[in-house]
Amino acid sequence: MNLYAGKIVRVDLTEGKITVEETRRDWISEYIGGMGLGFRYLWDEIDPKIDPLSPANAMIFMNGPLAGTLAPLTSRMPLISKSPKSGTLFESNVGGAIAAELKYAGYDGIIIKGKAEKPVYLSIRNKNIEIKDAENLWGKGIFATEKELGELEKDPEIKIFSIGPAGERLIPMACIGSEAYRQLGRDGSGALMGSKNLKAIAIRGTGSVHVADLKGFLDYVRKVSAENLMTKDNLWAHTDGTPILVEITNEMGIHPTRNFQEGTFDGWRKINSDSVRSIKKGARACRSCPLACGNYVRTERTMVEGPEYETLALAGSNCGIADIETVARFNERCDDLGLDTISTGNTIAFAMELTEKGIHDFGATFGDTDNYLKIPDEIASLRARGKELAQGVRYIAEKYGGKEFAMEIKNLELPGYEPRGNYGMGLAYATSERGACHLRAFTIFSQTPFDLEAMAQEVAAGQNTNSIKWSMCFCDFWGSVNTQIMSQFLKYGLGKEITSEELERMGERIWNLSRIFNLKAGFTRADDEIPIRLKREPLKKGTNEGKVLSAEDFEKMLQIYYRIRGWDANGVPKAEKLGALGIAAFASTRRRE
Ligand code: SF4
Repeated sequence: MNLYAGKIVRVDLTEGKITVEETRRDWISEYIGGMGLGFRYLWDEIDPKIDPLSPANAMIFMNGPLAGTLAPLTSRMPLISKSPKSGTLFESNVGGAIAAELKYAGYDGIIIKGKAEKPVYLSIRNKNIEIKDAENLWGKGIFATEKELGELEKDPEIKIFSIGPAGERLIPMACIGSEAYRQLGRDGSGALMGSKNLKAIAIRGTGSVHVADLKGFLDYVRKVSAENLMTKDNLWAHTDGTPILVEITNEMGIHPTRNFQEGTFDGWRKINSDSVRSIKKGARACRSCPLACGNYVRTERTMVEGPEYETLALAGSNCGIADIETVARFNERCDDLGLDTISTGNTIAFAMELTEKGIHDFGATFGDTDNYLKIPDEIASLRARGKELAQGVRYIAEKYGGKEFAMEIKNLELPGYEPRGNYGMGLAYATSERGACHLRAFTIFSQTPFDLEAMAQEVAAGQNTNSIKWSMCFCDFWGSVNTQIMSQFLKYGLGKEITSEELERMGERIWNLSRIFNLKAGFTRADDEIPIRLKREPLKKGTNEGKVLSAEDFEKMLQIYYRIRGWDANGVPKAEKLGALGIAAFASTRRRE
């Protein structure tokens, strides 16, 4: 099979059983790979209403068609499942080299269900797939786990997914780590592995990927790299990486500060890309990426790849922390413990505001670096205040109050772009399939950020495009990659034409499938909401001072969005829309029995 390995590994941890099955070719033609193919598999694997932490939930790792080839920036490896954090279905992806290793081992994906009796890890080395004992690894952080697993497998280059103590304790904001400093974040993926007693997955392959027209493929790699990738517009990824957004969002007045009270941060120069550069010791790239956006930083007290923009914003300015080394130390602890820095930072910021307002004393206030640095370990060990903070912003607001400034949507804490200064980001967060997420539509560079119609159009179009981008598994930082380029890669790789229009239709199909799943899981129009603070409290400081995204404007924008999508006023896809996308049957059938 060109581009695809043609096989999927299926693991039942309850039975200790491993099987290998054919990849569904009929689904490839409709969902291509990655996020889309993963959603399609998930539909058949689970009941949307199940408890995400039950053995019946499935973890689906699904490669894109270009993984393992020399097509640049195609090394993302997605995980698809039902989230213990938001209760929705989700896709989360990570870079590095693990996607290529799985393809070289001979597989397009891995489906894991069940629960092992005691801690285990999964070892995949070409045809040799085993469930192995991991009792000696349980309790260890991600850095030590990766090192020891490399020794156990006698292969320091083996690529690994693993969890730290946060995942073992089923903490909803736990993530999966890979290559030390990369994460499958946001959705509680670490808790999913913990719930299955699965400490790690180690993958190594020595095979290759078959490409239909090798010369045509390589010529196109050279051409598109020169003309579309290595251009002035994409250079920021190499020179600065994501920290460049600190300056940009501050100037725009959309930088989250002190639990989203303000839109600019006075101390931004102490956490911006110049600050990162001052402690940078090298760059790190994912496989087949000439941009190398990763900043590897080191001081006497810390060593980490990062901090990325989201960490600088949510765990920096949003907690009132104006010191790059402190944020880097926080980042390193979260990476080792297996905690998502966006949700952890947001939760600490919320606790700081509750403390400052005298609602509940969490013993930490904005800018208090000592307490700030202690909290990740307290969360991961469920110790002291960490026991409650581990449950996230919604839980704490329900228990102690502060709902009017609880910054979460569908129980997922907000990323680093203030919606009162860009209405499209509010809509993007509210309608993302997994709660507040900035990776489905990204409108911060729009010229009309307060135009309700334009923002609704941009969000719907962005979600469709990104659905296909995450299904082809391209990195987000190739901003100018488009469906024409994807179509060309597929032509040379598959030896078959899939037009740009077909890919765009696939993107819309994938988005609608995720909507039907979430409706069947019990989500409704009422869940497509934004936090009260955004609607009622004027933003302080910066170019958008005084702005709100009123309830009335938000409702108008949401209804325009539903109309553009072909959904009814409650956000339910209409039969004619689903029919046009070829998925009408999904609205009435839960899944194949
Ligand atoms: S731009 Fe950065 S994240 Fe994207 S593939 Fe390259 S190194 Fe990885």
